[in-house]
Amino acid sequence: MAFGWQGVEADTPAGWELGAYEGDFRAGHACLDDGTQLRFRVRWHDGAGRPTPLQTVLNRYRRSVLKSSKDAEFCVLDPEALPVRFRKDKTMLPFSWEAGVTGQGVVWRCAVCRRIVVAEVMSPPGEEGQKAARRILASVRCHRDDDERLWAVYGFAFRTPDSYNLNESALHSGRLLFSFQGPRQSWLVVERWGLASQLLAKASLDAWPRELLKLRPTWRVDDLDTAETAVPAAGGGPYRACRFSARVRRRRGGVFGSFSRPAPVAGLVWHHADEDKIVAVMAATGDEDSTEHTDLVTRVAGTAECR
Ligand SMILES: [Zn+2]
Repeated sequence: MAFGWQGVEADTPAGWELGAYEGDFRAGHACLDDGTQLRFRVRWHDGAGRPTPLQTVLNRYRRSVLKSSKDAEFCVLDPEALPVRFRKDKTMLPFSWEAGVTGQGVVWRCAVCRRIVVAEVMSPPGEEGQKAARRILASVRCHRDDDERLWAVYGFAFRTPDSYNLNESALHSGRLLFSFQGPRQSWLVVERWGLASQLLAKASLDAWPRELLKLRPTWRVDDLDTAETAVPAAGGGPYRACRFSARVRRRRGGVFGSFSRPAPVAGLVWHHADEDKIVAVMAATGDEDSTEHTDLVTRVAGTAECR
């Protein structure tokens, strides 16, 4: 099962889910737990400009581990312990610590995405998981080679162009919502809804575009057009789908604010029947004559997977 968040990816075991997260692509962190305890933690920050030496980052971290438990032991390891492919384009310092729980981690500076990343895998006492922990650690990537970012949490995965930045997310079991800001006032929204059959009993799939747009109280929607289609989503399908287009004006500055110029919006909503989910992808462009947003919807929808 892959994990993906803010450009960081890892092959983590099934059952490890996103617990806490914060920040954006430039600086932030994400933690995965197995339902009982913390198993994976990754932190990153922009390493461009005047970069902090890796040794300083590691020393700072070492102090925080030693402070957290007076019996803690901390060792710096040889980078050769990690596979060659993992070491590509990076300078790194692997480390391990023991404080009841065992942590295996690595701090690196990436020459491509220019971030400094600290990734760690934690094993509970008594668990013979050192080899597995090293394998998970060696699967961590801080960027892809295809100019995309993978978002993969709670059994839902999709990819976005790396020019789109997450500016809002709301992750609840009934609804996962990801909202991205792109270049030149373009934006992208990806949603996954649970209990699809119950929802579809209340509003059929071809009514969903209107329902989805209605959830945005600051939007004024004109010229909504819908058409039935099918989606060959990754790892399954084809699924019954509804493609739509509309013109949306967004109210700026409160209830009495003025509306923005109308922007063309395109979307695709489908019923992932195998997992009983509804997935929706919506995009808009700042340029009225462009069809880029329609292509983006198709492209992102093609990468979406429910598990
Ligand atoms: Zn990188």
